[in-house]
This record gives sequence, C-alpha cells and structure tokens, in this order.
Amino acid sequence: MIAKVIVDVPVKQTDKPFDYFIPDSFLPLVQPGIRVVVPFGPRKLLGFVIDIEEESQLTNLKEIESIIDHEPVLTDELIELGDWLSKTALCLKISAYQAMLPAAMKASYKKYLIITDGKELNERWPGCLTFLTDYENKEWAQILKTASQEEISIIQKALRENMVALEQVVHDKSTSKKIKMIRTELTKDDLQKAYDQLDKRAKKQKNVLAYFLNEDHGTPIPLTSLIKKADAGRSAINHLVDKGLLIEEEVEQLRDPYAHSEIEKTTPLPLTNEQQGVLEPIVQDIEEDKHQVYLCHGVTGSGKTEIYMQAIDKVIKQGKEAIVLVPEIALTPQMVHRFKGRFGSDVAVLHSGLSRGEKYDEWRKINRGEVSVVVGARSAIFASFKKLGIIIIDEEHETSYKQEENPRYHARDVAIFRGRFHGCPVVLGSATPSLESYARAQKGVYKLAPLYNRINQQPLPEVMMIDMREELRSGNRSMFSKPLFSKLTDRLEKGEQSVLFLNRRGYSTFVMCRDCGYVIECPHCDISLTYHRRQGRLKCHYCGYEESLPDRCPSCESEYMRYFGTGTQKVEEALTQLLPEARVIRMDVDTTKKKGAHEKLLKAFGDGKADILLGTQMIAKGLDFPNVTLVGVLAADSMLHLPDFRASEKTFQLLTQVAGRAGRHHLKGEVVVQSYTPDHYAIVDAGAHDYQGFYQKEMYARHQRQYPPYFFLTLITVSHPDFPKVVDVTQKITRFLKQKLTNKAMILGPVAPPIPRIKDRYRYQCMIKYKNEPDLIKILKECQNHFQEAYTKDALKITIDINPYLLM
Ligand code: ADP
Ligand code: ZN
Ligand code: ZN
Repeated sequence: MIAKVIVDVPVKQTDKPFDYFIPDSFLPLVQPGIRVVVPFGPRKLLGFVIDIEEESQLTNLKEIESIIDHEPVLTDELIELGDWLSKTALCLKISAYQAMLPAAMKASYKKYLIITDGKELNERWPGCLTFLTDYENKEWAQILKTASQEEISIIQKALRENMVALEQVVHDKSTSKKIKMIRTELTKDDLQKAYDQLDKRAKKQKNVLAYFLNEDHGTPIPLTSLIKKADAGRSAINHLVDKGLLIEEEVEQLRDPYAHSEIEKTTPLPLTNEQQGVLEPIVQDIEEDKHQVYLCHGVTGSGKTEIYMQAIDKVIKQGKEAIVLVPEIALTPQMVHRFKGRFGSDVAVLHSGLSRGEKYDEWRKINRGEVSVVVGARSAIFASFKKLGIIIIDEEHETSYKQEENPRYHARDVAIFRGRFHGCPVVLGSATPSLESYARAQKGVYKLAPLYNRINQQPLPEVMMIDMREELRSGNRSMFSKPLFSKLTDRLEKGEQSVLFLNRRGYSTFVMCRDCGYVIECPHCDISLTYHRRQGRLKCHYCGYEESLPDRCPSCESEYMRYFGTGTQKVEEALTQLLPEARVIRMDVDTTKKKGAHEKLLKAFGDGKADILLGTQMIAKGLDFPNVTLVGVLAADSMLHLPDFRASEKTFQLLTQVAGRAGRHHLKGEVVVQSYTPDHYAIVDAGAHDYQGFYQKEMYARHQRQYPPYFFLTLITVSHPDFPKVVDVTQKITRFLKQKLTNKAMILGPVAPPIPRIKDRYRYQCMIKYKNEPDLIKILKECQNHFQEAYTKDALKITIDINPYLLM
C-alpha cells in the first residue's frame, strides 16, 4: 500500500503529495489524516497522510519511517478543505493543514552529529576522534555552543567531505500533562491487617493507610492531594508502594483553564416573538440537515446570543456539534461564561490567552468528541468536529476573521464551505453587518434575520454629538468637552459608572520637534515611533524597534520635542488631574499583557472597584455592566482618515458598538461622542442608530469609487531591501496582469503603499479590481511562480491577498 503524504517543506516545489511505501507492520495504523515521519532527500520530515492507494506510478519508493498519531488529526473533510484553501487563498497545502491544528502540533527539527567514517577522520586530523566521539549523537545546536572554534572548523570540513553527518530528527512538540495518582487494590480487611502490622513508629505510613480505610477507598487520589489529606510525606507513600500495598500510576490530565472558575448554570429563557421568528427557520434547517446562511442583524442587546444558545441546544440534542466564533477581543470572560453557564463542560474554549499546552488540550477534547461546542477566535473554525450541526459567527463584520498571513483565509468563507459539507446552517450575527454581507442578504444569497428591538424594549441610548472645533474656539483646550466633563462629574456624584473609549494606544502617537517639525521615525520602517511613557521609550509598532527619547531634536538640536496625539496613558493622567477622586481602570495592550489581566480588570470594574473604565478597542465589544450609564468617545474620527476604503464603515461600526455599552439594564444610558468632523455620515448615522441610512450612503460611495461589494479586489505586494528592484518587479507584474486578465479588469498601480518600508524592506503594490475573472486564480498562481522564481535568490517576496482587509 502507498501513502500520499504532504511534507513539511513550505515551498512551491513540494506542494503536492509524495508517495511512500507503507511497511507491513504499519499497515493497520496508517490512515488518512495522521502525521508521519518520512525520509525526504537527506532529511527526515513530518508529513500528513492525505490518502492511501494501492499502487504508485513511481518505482523505488521510500518507506514511511514512523508514525506520530494513532488517531487522525485531520478528518476527510478537513483534508478536502485544505485542498480547497490552497486553491482559493493561494497558499501551500502544508500551511493550510498546519493552520488547522494547534501550534503545539507543529514539528520541531533537531540535528544530531554522527560519525560516518572514523578511519578517514583519524587520518586527516589525527587525534580528532577524542573530541568527536564526545560529540557523537549530541544535538548540533548544543555542540555549536560548547565546541572550540578549531573543533567546529574541523567538523565543518568533515561535513563537506561526508566523514561526519548531521541527522535530522523530528520532534512532536505536543505534550500532554501527566499527574501521579495513588490507589489500592486491597480490600478493606486486607488494608486493616496491613495497618495493624505496621510499626507504631511508622506514623506517617499509618496515616496514609488510615486515609484509604476511612475514605471511599477504591477511588484513586492525586499524589499531591494525598500528601495533604493524610498529613504524610512522599517517602511514606513510597514505602507503601514498594510494599505493594498501594499502586502509583501516571494518568494523563487535560489542562482545564476554567476548572477553578465557578460558573452558575443557566437555563434557556422564554424567547420574545422577534427572537422566536429568527430561531424557528434555523431550527428547521438543523432538523432537516439543510445548509443556509443567515444574517442575523440585531441591535446590541437584542438577544442574539440567547438565540445562538437555543439553536445550539437543538444541535446537541440531535447528537451534533457547534462552532461559535467570536472576535479575539470580544472573547471576554463574560462571553465565555455565558456559554459555559449554559453548556457546562460540553464547551471547549480557544483563544490566544491560553498557553500552548492548554490550547492543545482544548483541541484534543474536540478531536476526541468529548465536547460538542467550541467557542473560539478565528482558527476555531477548523475544529475537527465530525457532525457539525451549526456554525455561528458573532460580530461577523470584524476584520480579524481574515487571517493576515498565510493561509490568508476568511473564517466566513471556511464556515460556508463546512456548512455545505455538513448540510448545516451558518449564522452570521452583527449589529453592524459588513457591507458585503448585508448586500448579499439584500440579494437573497443570505437570508436576512432581523431583530429590531432590544430585550424589554429598552430604548437605545441617546447620543450627543460634540464638535470639538467649537470647544477649541470657545477656549477649551482639554481633551474633555464641557458637556462630557460635567456628565462625568455627575456620574461620579451619583455613584454610577462611566466608560471612556479611545481608539489609540500608548501615551501619544508620535514625537515631533516644535521648531523644525522633525518627526522621529523607525529607522527600519517608514512610520513614526510611538512614545510609551511608563518605560520612557519610543517603540515601533511594526517591527518592535525601541529607543529612548532623545533630549534634543536629532535634526536641529532644539530642546522642544513634543508628544502629539492622545493616548490612553495621557487621558488617564488628565483624569487624575481633573477628577482626582475618580477611581480609573485603564485597559489597553499595555495593561493587559499579563495572562489573566484582562479578566481581573474587568472583574474589578464589574465589582464596582472603579468609577471609570478607560480603554481602547478591547472595551468596545461584548461588555455588559448594569451600572454603566455614560459612555464617552474621545476621538471619534481617529479612524476616519485612514487610507482604507473601509474607514467609514469601521468608524460607524466602532461607534455603534461603543454606544451599545451604555444603559443595557434598568438605568438609562447616555453617550457623548467628541469629534472634529461631526457632520460625516459615519458619525451622524452612528449617533442616530441608523444602520439603513449609513448602508445606503456607504453603498453609494462604494459604487462611485468602484469598491467592494460592487467590485472584488486583489492586492499584490512586492517587498525587497532594494527599492529600484521592488518598483521594477511590480511594474512587470502589472504588465503581466494586463496581458492575461480580461479587459474588464482594472489594474491599479504600481504605487507605494501608505507604509512604504517595513523591517528594512521596501514595499510596492498593485491592485486588481474586477467583477468576474474566471481565470484569476490560475493567472495569479502563474504570476507568483514566474516572478518568485526569477528572483528567489534575491529574497524578493510577493504577497497575493485576495479580498484584502489590510490595505497598508
Ligand atoms: P446581543 O447578543 O444581541 O447583544 P444578548 O443576547 O446579550 O444580546 O441579550 C441582552 C440581554 O438580554 C442579556 O442580558 C440577555 O440575558 C437578555 N435576554 C436575552 N433574551 C432574553 C429573553 N428572551 N428574555 C429575557 N431576557 C433576555
Ligand atoms: Zn528640530
Ligand atoms: Zn520598525
């Protein structure tokens, strides 16, 4: 039998299955979807078995060397999905398969030194074997650290002449956690006898046996708990194990990041008529195994999550499984608790806050069928469930559902692929659907499922627009307008809570010289550095470069270097000055770096330990605090002027989300939005809670400027350390595309992108706008292969992004 294997080499030449002979002893073990180790040239590599056939066209096949998994890690469906991804997202099959699995399952490769010709070595370098035999079978990386320069130079020469070799060994990084358990197989009578026979002085051993006599003695107990409960030491237990009275075993334990949180069980709520109307057709599809995409457009607080949970309930009762995607920043403890509260240990959770081992364990629960629901960020869409009954994508408009590295997939597209495969509904939910999805719903491609009212008919909060230009004209130079400040003071007096939202991070966005206008930029990327006050350092958000703040302007030596822009730290400082009695919690990338910090800060706010929650994007979503009656948006237009055709859409979405945080319960909510362009429709319509109005205006603008959803986009970015080369190649690519695509396709560029250099690599782009290009994928592949090949030794990189979300 022959196994078709995709090997772990991320280059185009190996992007196809290779045939390997399956040795007889492995026959019962090898099946599609497992990982194996195979010889590949001089190396050993990890590979995925994607198929098994009886014959091969090739002769002289090599054999599979060893087997890593005893159960498939990829189902037949996922194998097919990987193939589809490689075609639609222009990625390598190996990257598609790796993206489906937790990082812990990526192989690591280590090289070990072996001596192949000792006799020859001794003749060339007499005496060299004394140190070489020491190094034999040691890891090459270690040898490099310890060996002398002379020794290394000999080894390198010997390598070239094949007298020694480096053997590559594949390590599977996935590790499971094991704990020691103690149990006994003796009857109570026999235990009692053993107890009586023990010497009086063996007090600790007696304690241990007494534990097993008193407690339910048949149940194994973790060693660490036994030590505590029996007031005994490790050695006492060892003695008893040695005597054969107790048995010690290692048991695999799944790490459960939520083991210690107490989550109250909830039951389904009686639905409103509106909710019922949305749920019914979905349930019907679940019962009939029918695929259909729903767009659930419901204002914040309209009870979408309750609908999701009741649909999932149906799915579970049918013995099927559910995937719920939530954007990473909305994967707040609150959201997780709602699902854990309803479905208990039947839920696996996947998000970036978990350790590598925890993620691996959550994944294994899914793969073994120990859970039926997964709640997770983007990559949870690949959960290896076998009987999917529903896929839900909450906040479907979030751009984080598109992966910005290979494979550049969009979770929504993958969801629809899987929904078709399993014959199950896909529910996209949002208060502010993406224009693309809403347009599809208008055309009937998706089924629109609207919710117009908030639960209990609570009104949406009133939004007050403040023109900051006028504030400035009337002499107010602070970052708080007069109305916002007086409302903050009012809430403070009443003991109600406020949320302040700022769409920026750091202390200020950039540092500029007031005399000559010089802005400090990253020496490797053409972008200004951000000042972080706590460390007093300037940082590049693209490459991580840091430096300390200069005393004088590097250009004119002036001492007047100033921080511009408003960051969360600066707002926090202003608050402490203006409202010294207010207790403020700040949440941004810097204060939530530590594991669990996010949860802690939110809990503190929820427990009323602060009056004001100040933060960035991460507080815009999913938070639900009853005591919040005021939401302030400090700089509503900070996103409006980004060089991105979605800038208005993103601004509208964000403002709507933020506004939805206020007055979600019995207290009435108010929203204050500060802006320098209060007349822009994205801001006006968000203030009026008018999605339809915004949709129509924005669709008109997209039509005028020929952008999605009227046209599709593909963005090609070329990068290289040498500027003329980048321009030259991009020009050639543009010409190539003009020749090959239909004359209806528009090819824009080549142009320099808004960030023309990142990590010392210049960048150049061209953009294709098109409606219908049947050969597009084929032509793009051709283009990539042709130009990439011509310049491989030059480190030239060509990135092709189909349906891009990041235009910088
Ligand atoms: P959304 O997800 O649309 O923002 P949620 O599902 O969070 O809305 O619902 C908002 C609030 O209303 C939650 O506190 C939720 O528990 C409550 N809720 C939802 N459905 C009902 C219902 N049918 N009856 C009573 N309360 C409900
Ligand atoms: Zn200067
Ligand atoms: Zn940089």
